[in-house]
Amino acid sequence: MLARRVSHIKPAPTLALSTKIDQLKVQGEDVVGFGAGEPDCDTPKLKAACERALWSGKTKYAPSAGLPELRQALARKLWEENSVEYRPSEIVVSSGAKMVLYLVFLTILDEGDEVLLPSPYWVTYPEQIMLCGAKPVVVPLNEDTGFVLTARILEPYISKRTKALVLNSPSNPTGAVIPRNELEEIAQLCVDRRIFIVSDECYEAFVYDGEEFVSPASLSREVWKITFTVNAFSKTYSMTGWRVGYVACPEKYAKMIADLNSQTISNVTTFAQYGALSALTDPRAKEFVKTMRETFSKRRNIAYELLKDIPHVSVVKPKGTFYIFPNLSYYSKKLGSDLVLADYLLEKGKVAGVPGSAFGAEGYLRLSYCVSEETIREGIWRIRTALESLE
Ligand code: PLP
Repeated sequence: MLARRVSHIKPAPTLALSTKIDQLKVQGEDVVGFGAGEPDCDTPKLKAACERALWSGKTKYAPSAGLPELRQALARKLWEENSVEYRPSEIVVSSGAKMVLYLVFLTILDEGDEVLLPSPYWVTYPEQIMLCGAKPVVVPLNEDTGFVLTARILEPYISKRTKALVLNSPSNPTGAVIPRNELEEIAQLCVDRRIFIVSDECYEAFVYDGEEFVSPASLSREVWKITFTVNAFSKTYSMTGWRVGYVACPEKYAKMIADLNSQTISNVTTFAQYGALSALTDPRAKEFVKTMRETFSKRRNIAYELLKDIPHVSVVKPKGTFYIFPNLSYYSKKLGSDLVLADYLLEKGKVAGVPGSAFGAEGYLRLSYCVSEETIREGIWRIRTALESLE
């Protein structure tokens, strides 16, 4: 008999899609994959630092909370880039943002607690919240308001059982960025109602058109006290497979999270942490991130222009991330659901995206533009042709 805890768990649909695309490619199919949630560039400089660490014997256990020099460098990064003050003892390194989020939820959630989850949401949040015995309370966001969360939208969903709010700005899958004034009101509401903020900042590096990224913990000391600032090297430095993420929060929580680390993963792979350290200390890494941001910004413009011209499709121009989230509900209704539509696009059009229902938004399709401009053009042309033949 399986434990009740795992009996409803679903595999991450984004990873399942990548596996399916890989299988089709192995079978010789020419598939355009818009599924990947990872940058398509290499990180040779960081690999060299990791290799040096390996050869100099950094292959043993490391402290559970992370290498002291990495936590120190993270404290500096958080201060210099995000204007938020954390001591190294308030920072814990774990296996990617995904594991960090799970440890944060384990630390703060009890059976029956409610967690506010603005929707569309990243696929993993509800699963992790439920694994902790808590209940995700979906806060629907609207395409007409650019999928931006406001305090006014949030407030009616707060109850006596509300324990935390998940913020993900820039958002996967919509690319929405919460402006500073809205964030201030949301954060104040959380302070007043004693609600933790779990701020997933994985896409902070990918914000376009001069839009400002704001870390909630930087807003005030009161907000700082209730906030878990979660981030990773995965997206910013194209280090998804390295599995290095971190959380910054008041020390009493950091200590608990480090203890959970010590009883589960022990520590993040020691030499990978040295690679991560070089991402923070090697000045060339900043240039690398800047180039990536410029590349994604151009690709976003191309994808947006092409998608908005498809009949019966609406699309919000993303302000951040490397995703775009067109509304294809006119077509998905014809086929019954966005799952069937995504399958149809893959079978008929040889083009893959993740159905919106995986993110709590039936009728949409998430496309990741971590592919070349030429591939974007080809893939969207395939989507358009396949959709038009449904008319
Ligand atoms: N948070 C969001 C919003 C994501 O999109 C992802 C990955 O897709 C993660 C967290 C997980 O990041 P990591 O690979 O560092 O575990």
